[in-house]
Amino acid sequence: MYDVIVVGGGNAACAAAVSAKENGAKRVLLLEKAPRDQRGGNTHFSGAIFRFVFNEIEQLDRFIPGAEAEFPGFHKGVPQYPKAAFLEDLMRVTEGRTDPELSKILIDASYDTTCWMQQVGKHEFELARSVMGIKVGNEYKWPRGAIVRTVHEGVGLSSTWFKTVEGMGIDIQYEAHVLELTQSTSGRVNGVVVRSTKGLETLECKAVILACGGFETNPEWRTRYLGQEWGHAKVRGSNFNYGDGLKMALDVGAMPWGHWGGCHATPIVAEAPDYGVRKLTDKTNRLSYPYGVMINAEGKRWVNEGEDFNAFTYAKFGGLILKQTGGKVCQIFDSKVVDMLEPRYKTSEPLRSDTLEGLVKQLPVDQEQALKTLNEYNQAAGHGKDFNPAILDGLHTEGIEPAKSNWAQKLDTPPYLCWTVTGGITFTFGGVKINKEAQIISTGWKPIEGLYAAGEMVGGLFHYNYPLGTGLMSGAVFGRIAGRAAAQS
Ligand SMILES: Cc1cc2nc3c(=O)[nH]c(=O)nc-3n(C[C@H](O)[C@H](O)[C@H](O)COP(=O)(O)OP(=O)(O)OC[C@H]3O[C@@H](n4cnc5c(N)ncnc54)[C@H](O)[C@@H]3O)c2cc1C
Repeated sequence: MYDVIVVGGGNAACAAAVSAKENGAKRVLLLEKAPRDQRGGNTHFSGAIFRFVFNEIEQLDRFIPGAEAEFPGFHKGVPQYPKAAFLEDLMRVTEGRTDPELSKILIDASYDTTCWMQQVGKHEFELARSVMGIKVGNEYKWPRGAIVRTVHEGVGLSSTWFKTVEGMGIDIQYEAHVLELTQSTSGRVNGVVVRSTKGLETLECKAVILACGGFETNPEWRTRYLGQEWGHAKVRGSNFNYGDGLKMALDVGAMPWGHWGGCHATPIVAEAPDYGVRKLTDKTNRLSYPYGVMINAEGKRWVNEGEDFNAFTYAKFGGLILKQTGGKVCQIFDSKVVDMLEPRYKTSEPLRSDTLEGLVKQLPVDQEQALKTLNEYNQAAGHGKDFNPAILDGLHTEGIEPAKSNWAQKLDTPPYLCWTVTGGITFTFGGVKINKEAQIISTGWKPIEGLYAAGEMVGGLFHYNYPLGTGLMSGAVFGRIAGRAAAQS
């Protein structure tokens, strides 16, 4: 008999298991469906950037003590990130729909939980320079809120979690595919049915924490909830997240919550494999589109590439790309911005030419229209202030639709480059409803005794879109809460 069984092997599950143990649960078991060499879910593939609140810049020093020495002026240059700013970002990108109770818990606990990850989780952090640092001349500028990641990104995050879990004497079973929950006659969840190398068995416990991801890997559920175009979507991360935990929870009466028709999906290189590759992790992302233009198969621009910083648009643009003909678009840049492209662009070869005509002739699009679009864009671009990638610079187009509202420089400096991209799904937004103790709520609006959820399984926080660095923060915050509550239940 276990005190707490945690289902899953990602960030949320590990945080929950560690918290349960820390809060007095004697026998804790973590059940991971994947074999040991494929453990860790999406967490392993992640860029491991955490978005959290800090009121004084010195609050970052404990995570990145060398930053001021490495980047003189760092302390002065980093914008503070108070609770109100985090809430504003979350509200803006979710069109005001983020769950008020859960978002408050997430935001209020974000800094303290990151400290807990460092102290109890034994994680080491660093500046996420390659992805979040914006080079202006010889200086780096930093966007607000999400600039710190764990060392060795998701690979480090996942391996450190497992080391900590093992070090605390928590049992781990790999290749442990949890199929269903068991309940006592009172309705309390009191165990799980698991299929493992030992066969089918029922394991008993006092409380179960479900932290086994969304349904992004499941083509049937993707088609059912997200729509036809998602049937063939490439999966950026783990190939084990089929919505198993959601199904188990719904089967015992859990309330579906949040945006079941929504997901996080990003522009990734068109040749990316069908599932995430463990060595490549998140390197298929192509997120520097605010500095260029994006052309679809009809040869037209179809979106405002400079609507906001990419940290606030990348998670919805993947889905918009999938809706374009063929599910692919061309990202086009000139050589003025080449040094500003994320280093990840170097992991695949672009098409190149010294003229826009020459570039367009190589593109898998309506070439006549594409050249017309690029020429029209060049005539319309360059209005407003000076180009400044560190701020919403207001350098905009005039007289074309869709407009580009920031960073709209002309494409006028050869060579010109093109990367073809598609939309890759990261995780789904639909989940189950939980309360402030991370207890799963039933469709009767009452907590299901003995049952908790954390991570991607939690519904309500994200709708339509997502601010970069919030998924892992949510998993850590609600994993920690679930572990504590389950241990004390
Ligand atoms: C390429 C990429 C980059 C990302 N970058 C960032 C980033 O920089 N910052 C950020 O905040 N977020 C990022 N994310 C999102 C982030 O990774 C997820 O939000 C987070 O990892 C979710 O954690 P989780 O524990 O809920 O799920 P996961 O980490 O996906 O873990 C789910 C676990 O459940 C297991 N499982 C599934 N079904 C069962 C079952 N039936 N029985 C037992 N186990 C089961 C899986 O094997 C897996 O171990 C990124 C994601 C990807 C794919």
